[in-house]
Amino acid sequence: MSIRYTVVEGGTVITMDARRRVGRGDVLIDGNTIAAVRLEGDPPFDIGASTFLTVDARGCAVLPGLVQAHVHVCQTLCRGSADDLPLLEWLKERVWPYEASLDEKSMRACARLAAAELLLGGTTAILDMGTVHETDALFDALGRTGLRVVGGKAMMDHGDGVPARLRETTRASLDESDRLRRDWEGKFDGRIGYAYAPRFVLSCTEELLREVAARVAAGARVHTHASEQLPEVELVRRERGDENIRYFDRLGLGGPQVTLAHCVHPTVEERAILAARGTHVTHCPSSNLKLGSGIAPIPEMLAEGISIALGADGAPCNNNLDGMLELRLAALLHKHRVGPAKMTAMQALELATLGGARALGLGDRIGALEVGKRADLIVVDLETPHVAPSPDPVSAVVYGARASDVRHVFVDGRHLVAGGLLTEATGLERAAVVAEARAARVAAGAAV
Ligand SMILES: [Zn+2]
Repeated sequence: MSIRYTVVEGGTVITMDARRRVGRGDVLIDGNTIAAVRLEGDPPFDIGASTFLTVDARGCAVLPGLVQAHVHVCQTLCRGSADDLPLLEWLKERVWPYEASLDEKSMRACARLAAAELLLGGTTAILDMGTVHETDALFDALGRTGLRVVGGKAMMDHGDGVPARLRETTRASLDESDRLRRDWEGKFDGRIGYAYAPRFVLSCTEELLREVAARVAAGARVHTHASEQLPEVELVRRERGDENIRYFDRLGLGGPQVTLAHCVHPTVEERAILAARGTHVTHCPSSNLKLGSGIAPIPEMLAEGISIALGADGAPCNNNLDGMLELRLAALLHKHRVGPAKMTAMQALELATLGGARALGLGDRIGALEVGKRADLIVVDLETPHVAPSPDPVSAVVYGARASDVRHVFVDGRHLVAGGLLTEATGLERAAVVAEARAARVAAGAAV
């Protein structure tokens, strides 16, 4: 008989609820849902005589799972093979040839390696951009691990230097995206969602972007890149006669169903457009630093009311998929320019939880520990030599803790990491996943 309730007991609960309550307490999980959050002084849980499992969270923070709203799981085997290059060379010389080489087997190896890293590091949900092919294998492999995923195949019907295997016709790109959405949305108990993923302006015809915008008008989600580097912005200006973000918006690619990764170089007018429309922006601090893209004006955009999330981007431009690291960097990166008081630990944590939830279109389901939300939560050890004796648990998590301090991870109420180890529910075994990735990389040969 399966036991209905789990109590995560005795930790410091960082709720991220509307009041941002933080305190010693317990979280009650009922199936896939948070049934109750009890902070000091609240009455005990009312679960009658039911038996329940307990997870000991003493000395730990209990908080919503991290949500990364811009990831390329399919690039994980290209980790370390595309270092120290600017964006357009990075894409044409390394990343696209690598993506063109992926087959079903290597895609599954990518997905399993990425999921192991993400889950062990406290990331419970991602917004993923796939490559052009093998998206069925990607969804299937990720779904089996228990991770929550909104994703879609990359759409590429235009541009220079695109390998033949990645070049699609407009019709084929749309048809395959529509089919994948029909086949995968809502699968794995609703943990899979679909977001159309036109790669970026320079990879897409205007016809394709207009067709995607028509689907947004009919309720679909979109995930793409915008204004990552200045040479890209200049090429968009020359090719389409407009600023990148304004161009997207003019075509109908704006609003709460649209998430734009990077936005490192928005104009002031474009920032006003993002704020007015409710378009989400995903800040990718490591990736922007490594590719030399610049530093996005995140504190300004936050002050202007723009919805911001965080993401690691892909392994070739990071080289980790580490939500804790992005959280710390997001809190640190802007202080040199705007002063130490502008991006607080709490603001950074909001981006990594609530902001991510919104960018995935799941703001009503995840991102906070509140009754009725899905039980996506993590337990992070604060009694370590590099974190203790921080008096403020939010500071401890943002500035002090590391991915390796994550002790427990629940997604949809399923216990996926226990005591810092992947559980059987993930179908992942750490050493086997790494060995499989290494073998797949060797098999891919020259492409990586
Ligand atoms: Zn990206």
